[in-house]
Amino acid sequence: MKRRKFLGGTVAGGVAAAGGAEAAPLAQAQGTPGKLPPKVTPSAYSNRRAGFSPFTVPDYYVYADDLTIERNQPGKPHKGKALAAIQAHSDDIPLYAGGTVAKLIDEGYTGYLIRLSNDESSGTTLGHGVVQNEIDNIGVAKALGCKKAFSFYYRNHRMDDCAEVEIRARLIFLFRLLQVDTIVAMDPYNHYEENPDHLVAARAAEGACWMAGGRKDYPEHYRAGLKPASVKEKYYHSRSPQGHNLINRVVDIGSYIDVKVQSNVANKGKGPAGENGARLRRQLEREGRRLPLLGDTDDSANAAYIKRFLMDDFRVLGERFGLGYAEAFRYIGPEPSYRDTIRAYVDKNAVKI
Ligand SMILES: [Zn+2]
Repeated sequence: MKRRKFLGGTVAGGVAAAGGAEAAPLAQAQGTPGKLPPKVTPSAYSNRRAGFSPFTVPDYYVYADDLTIERNQPGKPHKGKALAAIQAHSDDIPLYAGGTVAKLIDEGYTGYLIRLSNDESSGTTLGHGVVQNEIDNIGVAKALGCKKAFSFYYRNHRMDDCAEVEIRARLIFLFRLLQVDTIVAMDPYNHYEENPDHLVAARAAEGACWMAGGRKDYPEHYRAGLKPASVKEKYYHSRSPQGHNLINRVVDIGSYIDVKVQSNVANKGKGPAGENGARLRRQLEREGRRLPLLGDTDDSANAAYIKRFLMDDFRVLGERFGLGYAEAFRYIGPEPSYRDTIRAYVDKNAVKI
């Protein structure tokens, strides 16, 4: 993907909008500019939130000066590649990165959804939580176009009591089995994260990306016929509402917002999405009222509720870049081979003796 600079010079100097035109300074575009002392420039930008959802964008983003806008790519440029979307809970990927996962799969990736917890804390009872969220996770995978969903079933909100080395080893196994090229997962450096599962899952995924490519870690895998998996691209999404994250990639999900909405409809066991739209429609009916936005059926109510309310912060984020809807990531791409760089230097500079 062609990189181009979006923030010139200093971050306070303004941002070029998606079409290249100069836009308002970020502070004005997003929130109320603070009163900073002279010669002090802001290094973090507050995200304006619509207030319709508890879990969308964090309080602040820090933008890198090589920020890239990832747009729709024609054809199937990712054909033959495997994508693993990794989440602690069944609603993490749909809420924070569902548009990007749907986009990448539509552009050719074979997608796999990997859930690490059993989501037991998110049902009418613990037992119901396990069963309903198991169903939901499969529904999310289907909505996003994934080929298969996996679950590790670690106890919900207790994953910091699990051996991280075991979680990592299971991910390494799957990365090698599925020959994963790219992951979408929570940022391992989410600040002010209150949910312990998120950080455990993110750290395990981060380590697995590196170790899955090695020959010395879990060599018995190779005796069983697996091959090393070199994870080349990582999209790390933010989560903690009060947090701040470094962002160097904004993905245009305008074409995929309705797929993202449906992946959130699939989360019926917990969270702000699921069937809350239908519940609201019926409640209003009992009160002798209706909200035109919700339409006339449960399906229309669920979709409209999620799109209008829960996705609104992604619309607001997109506005900053001239996009309909956007998701933001710390993206880590393929590293150039340092050996090739050294070889090129040697070939250019070596002299005859
Ligand atoms: Zn979660």
